[in-house]
Amino acid sequence: MNTVKAALAAAREKLPASEARLLLGHVLDRPAAWLVAHDDALLEEADLLRFASLVARRKGGEPVAYLVGYREFYGREFAVLPAVLIPRPETEMLVDLALAQKVGVGTTARILDLGTGSGCIAVTLALEIRQAEVTAVDASAAALSVARENAERLGATLRLQQSNWFDQLAGETFDLIVANPPYIATTDPHLAAGDLRHEPEPALASGADGLDAIRQIVAGAPRYLRPRGRLWLEHGYDQAAAVHELLAAAGFDDIQQHRDVAGIVRVSGGRRS
Ligand code: GLN
Repeated sequence: MNTVKAALAAAREKLPASEARLLLGHVLDRPAAWLVAHDDALLEEADLLRFASLVARRKGGEPVAYLVGYREFYGREFAVLPAVLIPRPETEMLVDLALAQKVGVGTTARILDLGTGSGCIAVTLALEIRQAEVTAVDASAAALSVARENAERLGATLRLQQSNWFDQLAGETFDLIVANPPYIATTDPHLAAGDLRHEPEPALASGADGLDAIRQIVAGAPRYLRPRGRLWLEHGYDQAAAVHELLAAAGFDDIQQHRDVAGIVRVSGGRRS
């Protein structure tokens, strides 16, 4: 019988159950909980074929987020296409740190997100801090259009600007600058494995030691920060010491570094003196 249960059981031979449920839920336009409660529902032939094709693509290595077209970040659904990095749970820490700073409480704060990609950070900050004026930049026009779609669908007001880091922001200053820049070394074998193979290389890799983008951002940021404004950056698992040094060399004080749930120092930041 072509039931939900039978389709999921067949897919289980190739994929983890959670992924199979996400893909079948996407085909049927139903939440995973519906599948559990209706596992005897009959599937149409066309839906079975679509499901089988998605299972095969996932088995071939395509990320689930690209197959279904969205990923959850900070409790909201963000559209994702292969033109943007898939939002990661560890990046939610960057948002938490930015929110803990309480910019925009009682005043209008200017916030800048560099390399916004899907817009997950900028849109979340715009929705969580109502008094903030958020600017999100990306060098990629394709990424900006994904960010625009996410901002519109989630009801966030923000300014989107095509810019390679600070290039198009001459003369502007911000209270808070955040970035989850590319930080993987171009020679890192992880780039050729797993889901990373399908994500945009400029969003992932940055020079021989992975620090090219971070060096540019840290060196440029003081000029675009208001006095006592803060910079928060996500970086690689082995870059904490190097990023600390870069922040100190650029004159930042109150440098702070935070561990993710896996215990890895993942986000660093400092205050403009
Ligand atoms: N800011 C986006 C994110 O955190 C994109 C980051 C990137 O492409 N490196 O997901």
